[in-house]
Amino acid sequence: MLGLFLCAVAFFVGALAMAGWIFQQPQWRSFLASGSQMKANTAFCLMLLAAALAVRTFRPASALARMAANAAALLVGTIVSLTLAEYWFEADLGIDQFLFKDTSTVGTSDPGRMSPPSAVSFLFGALTVFALELETRIGLRLAQLLALAMAFVPAHILTSYAYGNMNVLAFGSRKSYMAVPTALALMALALSVLAYAPDRGLMRSLTASTQASRVFRRLLVALFVAPPLLGWFVLKFLDGRNSPPEFGVSTTVMLCIVFLAALAWFNAARLNRTELNLEKAKQDAERANRAKDQFLAMLSHELRTPLNPVLLAASALEADSSLSADVREQLAMMRRNIELEARLIDDLLDVTRIAHGKLELHPEVVDLHVAIEHALGISASEIEARKLKITKRLDAAEHHASADAARLQEVFWNILRNAVKFTPIGGQIAISTQNDDGGRVVIQFADTGIGIEPNLQPRIFEAFEQGEPSTQMRYGGLGLGLAISKRIVDLHQGSIDVRSSGRGQGSTFTVKLNAVESSRLKTATNVSPGSIVTPASAEILVVDDHEDSARVLQRILRNAGYRVSSCGSVAEARALAAERKFDLVISDIGLPDGNGLDLMRSLRETHGLSGIALSGFGTEEDLAASKAAGFITHLTKPVDLERLRSAINLALNGAAGR
Ligand code: ADP
Repeated sequence: MLGLFLCAVAFFVGALAMAGWIFQQPQWRSFLASGSQMKANTAFCLMLLAAALAVRTFRPASALARMAANAAALLVGTIVSLTLAEYWFEADLGIDQFLFKDTSTVGTSDPGRMSPPSAVSFLFGALTVFALELETRIGLRLAQLLALAMAFVPAHILTSYAYGNMNVLAFGSRKSYMAVPTALALMALALSVLAYAPDRGLMRSLTASTQASRVFRRLLVALFVAPPLLGWFVLKFLDGRNSPPEFGVSTTVMLCIVFLAALAWFNAARLNRTELNLEKAKQDAERANRAKDQFLAMLSHELRTPLNPVLLAASALEADSSLSADVREQLAMMRRNIELEARLIDDLLDVTRIAHGKLELHPEVVDLHVAIEHALGISASEIEARKLKITKRLDAAEHHASADAARLQEVFWNILRNAVKFTPIGGQIAISTQNDDGGRVVIQFADTGIGIEPNLQPRIFEAFEQGEPSTQMRYGGLGLGLAISKRIVDLHQGSIDVRSSGRGQGSTFTVKLNAVESSRLKTATNVSPGSIVTPASAEILVVDDHEDSARVLQRILRNAGYRVSSCGSVAEARALAAERKFDLVISDIGLPDGNGLDLMRSLRETHGLSGIALSGFGTEEDLAASKAAGFITHLTKPVDLERLRSAINLALNGAAGR
């Protein structure tokens, strides 16, 4: 809008001068400075260029109008080029008197000829019309640079007029002046080009809402206003006109330096203050974030610890064949729900890890078909309860990937769990794998469930996104599973996406992972997690200050055939270890009189004991600290029987080998 207005102003100035020529009214061709008059050619070019720029900056303009605008700019370019050629070659091409007979020698040595500065400025102006849309790869816009060059000439002329310095206005030995209205109109046109794309190129630094742009705007205003004012001050009060010019120049330069230094200091002081405030705000935010992380870790610890004995007891009793099927079914239900609770806590912690970029992978060669089967195994009871039909077409010939087995299984389980949750009773879930041409394994889970609206599909991989509120009310969850899955798959350089034709149309999740060629696979020795190698004489020390946990653990381990002692503090543990020889210690980390890490270190050193950490803390740092202290495995509470058994198995096998 501003651009169009400026073009209209320039057009009006040109049209007024042209009318001055038609109706022989010299005062219409000059205002503000009586000595200068706008030539007929200049008025003509001004009208053409103003119209061309107006059309080019007016976006709904038709293609024909734009072509006409380009033609007008071309005509302007030709006229001014010929004019410059006349000056250069000292020739008369007949264009000066073409429109009107002009014999006036006021402000020019060549009657009717456009002044050289005007011609140069117009030439830049004509080029801006063609360059309006051009932008370089680094974001420079040619038209803006041309507009600055175009504005420089009239700005210089206007300043010279203001100081009465007519020497500058003459071009070489010829006295050809740019008229004041011409200078003003050309400035307006240059500004209209700058206003065309105010948020791009050079103009972005001026118009952005950042602190730096604010400073730039302030400086620019000051720069435009202060030096001319200082110059005027010197001329008026220090009598610069009568003293030698060096005096005027040196005084003006000095005053400018003082003024600009003061201005720079003022802005630097303000920026400094802002920067310090920002730094402080950043530190506060980081502190608050650390406090939040600590709180989350503590909270999860507190929430997990009481779940531990319940989960252990439930899974042990569930495996007890002396109990009735009905009771065991109830126990399975309890176990599932405790696991779900623990899972929600894990998800919350994982999201924090992802936000901090701390999700770590422990890659190994993983058989994706086995991982899928495991995920199916975990969901088996729900699948059965919902009477879902599972079809499998695991056709991928290359079905191994370099991946973190546990994390990948988590991804498959998340997808499968959703498919089970969002598919009505009696529905179908089809799982397939195949290899694509890019050496990847493509794993698909297609369900016949409630489907996902197209607009929701890109968002479901964002944390806490669950689509419509009714979904959350009806199906529960936190909306974290897919966000975590996406991050995990991304870390594996794979991809995960969803396709659904909409509500009620089912959903298909596709995971793509880079396959490891079978030829590069080592024959893996598969240790079945269920098979326990228990030295009959194995003696285990349980250290946990949470009494229920310690008691249940002790009972379960005794039932499994181990000899077990338990205690609730570091001191008691040390005393027991000094008394008797243990094969393994299973220890909590947070203990009333110290921590399990120090305990592990000392037991390892003095008695050569190996150990398993069993803790409510489960961040990557906690896992790393346990490893550093010498624990063979770090299990996070609540732990189920299977995981505990395989950890003990591993620890004892390792211990036996020593
Ligand atoms: P949660 O299931 O805990 O809400 P997820 O991140 O696993 O969180 O899923 C996010 C959302 O994506 C779900 O709330 C649901 O709206 C949608 N969604 C995921 N899987 C399916 C599916 N198989 N069918 C329909 N909607 C799904």
